[in-house]
Amino acid sequence: MADDNGLIKAKVVVNEDECKGCELCISACPEKVLFLQKHFNRLGYHPAGYTGDGCTGCGYCFYQCPEPGAITVFKKGYIEMEVC
Ligand code: SF4
Ligand code: SF4
Repeated sequence: MADDNGLIKAKVVVNEDECKGCELCISACPEKVLFLQKHFNRLGYHPAGYTGDGCTGCGYCFYQCPEPGAITVFKKGYIEMEVC
């Protein structure tokens, strides 16, 4: 959710098909808002997921993740731009 001042609260997005299900992000998250999902991704791993609430945007999960592009953190105030 966003307004003119950007995102009202931080959020994290997992690119499921880049995730190897290593759980490092889950262990790193102080808010315990990440979990391993039950379904498989295209590589055959259970991907990480976000509960949808409680992310503070601290970035610990991002820095722990060994897979480039698997996890993106959007801090509070981030303004999402539409690409034409
Ligand atoms: S940014 Fe911080 S609070 Fe948000 S999911 Fe990652 S580790 Fe958890
Ligand atoms: S640390 Fe990265 S690769 Fe590992 S479960 Fe989390 S998002 Fe997936």
